[in-house]
Amino acid sequence: MMQWNVLAQALGEGLDSFVQCPLEALSWSHRKYLIIEEILTYRPHILCLQEVDHYYDTLQPVLAGLGYSSNFCPKPWSPCLDVEGNNGPDGCALFFDQSRFELVDSISIRLCAMRIPTNQVAVMTMLRCRITEKCVCVAVTHLKARAGWDWLRSAQGSDLLRHLQNLVQKHPGAPTGDPSSDIPLLICGDFNAIPNEEVYQRFVTSPLSLDSAYKKLSKDGLTEPEYTTWKIRPTGECCTTLDYIWYSQELLRVDTVLDMPTEEQIGPNRLPSFSYPSDHLSLVCDFSFKEKE
Ligand code: NDP
Ligand code: CA
Repeated sequence: MMQWNVLAQALGEGLDSFVQCPLEALSWSHRKYLIIEEILTYRPHILCLQEVDHYYDTLQPVLAGLGYSSNFCPKPWSPCLDVEGNNGPDGCALFFDQSRFELVDSISIRLCAMRIPTNQVAVMTMLRCRITEKCVCVAVTHLKARAGWDWLRSAQGSDLLRHLQNLVQKHPGAPTGDPSSDIPLLICGDFNAIPNEEVYQRFVTSPLSLDSAYKKLSKDGLTEPEYTTWKIRPTGECCTTLDYIWYSQELLRVDTVLDMPTEEQIGPNRLPSFSYPSDHLSLVCDFSFKEKE
C-alpha cells in the first residue's frame, strides 16, 4: 500500500512559496508524469492520496485504465479555490486495484471537532481481498495544517477513529460491541503532526490497537523516519515527519517498508524539484493478514 500527499497543483503554484523550486518543475505538465511514474513504480494494491486537485481530469481516468477503482472527497472550502486558474478543490482520494480487491462499502466524511464540521475530510472504504476473501477497512485523511492547531488535529483524529470503529462494527463478521473487531484497519494520512503531538499519541493509545508501519520496522522498532516532507519556504527549511500508515497490529503484519530517499538523493534545494513532484515523500509498505492464533 502507498500513502502520498501529492501536492495540490493550485497550492504548489499559487500559495506554497517553495523558493528553491524552479517554476517549470512545478508545472502540472511536468509533475503529472512524475506522480504517475512513482505510482507505477510500486503498483500498490491500495493507494491513498491527499491534495488531489486533478482527480477527474487525470488521476481517476489514468488509474482506471490501469485497473484501479476509486473514491474522491473534495475539501468543502479547499484553499485551492482561492488560487487564480485553479482546477477545482483538492481532497483525499482512495484507489484500489480491482484485480486484488472488491468494493464492499465506501463513505466520505467531513471530520468534526466537538461536533462542529471542519474543513478536513476522510474517505473510508471497506474492501474484500479476492484471494483470501478477508475484509480490510482503509481510510485516508489530511488533517488541518499549521502550528497552533494541535487541538483541532487531535479532535479530528478522535472523530476519524470513532467513525472507523462504527464502520467495522457495522459489517458482518465483526462481533458487535467488540472494539477489536475482526476487520483489520489501514489508516493513511498527512496528519500534519509530528510524533509527539497529541493526535499521534491518540492513535498509539486507541482501543483499536493500531501501530505505525514505519515505526514498527525502524531499527529499534520505536522511531518514525527522520522526515516525510522537506521543503524550503521564505520562513526557512522545514524537514519533518507528518505522514503515517497505521494498521491493526493484532490482525495485520507489516512485512516491508520502502526507505525514504537520502538527503543526497533529495538534493540541496529539497522538495519539490525536477526529480520529486511533491514536497511530501511517498510511504510504501507490504502487509499480510495475520493467521489467527
Ligand atoms: P490548512 O491550514 O489545513 O492548509 C491547507 C493547505 O495549505 C494544506 O494543503 C497545507 O499543506 C498547505 N499549507 C500549510 N502550510 C502552508 C504554508 N506555510 N504556506 C502555504 N501552504 C501551506 O487549511 P484549511 O483546509 O483549514 O483551509 C484554510 C483555507 O481555506 C483558508 O486559507 C481559505 O483560503 C479557505 N477557506 C475559505 C472559506 C470560505 O468561506 N471561502 C472558509 C474556510 C476556509 P500541508 O498539509 O502539506 O502542510
Ligand atoms: Ca501541502
